Amino acid sequence: MKSRDNSRTFLRMTLASINPATGEVLRTFQPLSDDELENKLARAAAAFPRWRRTPIAERARIIARAAHLLESGRPAFARLIATEMGKLVGAAADEVSKSALGCRYYADNAAALLAPEQVNGRDELVMYEPLGPILAVMPWNFPFWQVIRFAAPALMAGNVGLLKHASNVPQCALALEELFRDAGAPEGVFQTLLIGADRVDSVIADPRAAAVTLTGSEGAGRSVAAAAGRAIKKTVLELGGSDPFIVMPSADLERVIATAVKARMVNNGQSCVAAKRFIVAAPVYDRFVAGFVDAMSALKVGDPLHEGTQVGPLATAEIARGLADQVARSVAAGARVLLGGMRPEGPGHFYPPTVLVDVPRSAPAHVEELFGPVAPVFRVKDMDEAIALANDSPFGLGASAWTRDRNEAQRFASELEAGMVFVNAMVASDPRFPFGGVKRSGYGRELAAFGLRELVNVKTVRMNLGGAPGTPAY
Ligand code: NAP
Repeated sequence: MKSRDNSRTFLRMTLASINPATGEVLRTFQPLSDDELENKLARAAAAFPRWRRTPIAERARIIARAAHLLESGRPAFARLIATEMGKLVGAAADEVSKSALGCRYYADNAAALLAPEQVNGRDELVMYEPLGPILAVMPWNFPFWQVIRFAAPALMAGNVGLLKHASNVPQCALALEELFRDAGAPEGVFQTLLIGADRVDSVIADPRAAAVTLTGSEGAGRSVAAAAGRAIKKTVLELGGSDPFIVMPSADLERVIATAVKARMVNNGQSCVAAKRFIVAAPVYDRFVAGFVDAMSALKVGDPLHEGTQVGPLATAEIARGLADQVARSVAAGARVLLGGMRPEGPGHFYPPTVLVDVPRSAPAHVEELFGPVAPVFRVKDMDEAIALANDSPFGLGASAWTRDRNEAQRFASELEAGMVFVNAMVASDPRFPFGGVKRSGYGRELAAFGLRELVNVKTVRMNLGGAPGTPAY
């Protein structure tokens, strides 16, 4: 395996783990050399035939052990996540617990979900077979959970995993490799590749990589899908979102406002399914805006390791700069700032809770994803306008709608262009339900049976072994 351009070997940047709250460089890592990368791919290819034949009950024991290790190591993992990407330490602990839950879900259920399905007696069936080494290109925002929701189903299905994590979370990436090793996964079954984005194409092109799953931005999705297209390899793309949060007049406004703040500020505003556009019916618009601004202005911004902090820094300086630019361009297009909107002086990549109103439809705050604590609020006259505005987006990941009217709830469920619609709740992932989007939010699904079956060969088997005649063709 060779990267596209060997001269890059000498130019490759070190991978740095930087505390976003202080700007302090915590550790640096040299990316893998070409030879080291080749060794990792060879190890993955060698591990696959043995791992796929390992009884599924044994694979389940290993994944369940990973769940146990996540729980027993929760405080240390949470601190690592918080210092490396800025998530509040309490939220990081929740993420670790959720990762354990994801491992348990697949350890408990994968055997049943992957069991051959008899179509016509025991000799005519559909089988779910592993594909081989799966490359996972993952983002920093949920540095454990995003990886687990790929790794637990992929490994349970008998695939082996190659993790290319985001360059700003190398310590989390290595901790996950160690987690699976400590859980008992044989050598080569789950490996971290410390490489930059520039070397992803060469791994996709390598014949030993069977498929690729990416969670990340639209740009990364385009690039990975193009490389996988050239190599004719399966892809799953979980990309960005600009989820609407729709408030109808019948909603319980107090609960709506409390949840609106939570839904926008989850992970310091950096969640793919955070509420990113607030669409409020005219009769309750003024009350919503007043309550929402009050609640957003009361949030305590600070060190993610301190108890009592409600908003931490953004993960990188680049994200903070990009968000400030989106706000400036939205204001230039006519939006009004009701709260925040100015980056503070001082160390760390902080951005204050910000509320925008009167946002024109062409403004970045409507058409682009805002990956940070900025909330544009739109006034609509009725439900038709709410649905039209919600769907007027290049994205279609999640959507949250608030109403006590069952007919309205059903219309939202069927008419919103999104992979997930939640009524009277914020959008969130759950291992029991499929997760993914439509439009430029990507394709394919993670979690539940759907996620498990994305990374397998769905094999038709019709054995004619004499005795009963085969099924006549349809
Ligand atoms: P990103 O810049 O796209 O990075 C994600 C991963 O892709 C990283 O490992 C990155 O590597 C790699 N990458 C970037 N450009 C690439 C390219 N041209 N070719 C191959 N790999 C490439 O995204 P991010 O800023 O980390 O994450 C935020 C985005 O992810 C948001 O848009 C968010 O909505 C989305 N997201 C979606 C979901 C979902 O389930 N739908 C969940 C979480 C996040 P480097 O770090 O080395 O650049």
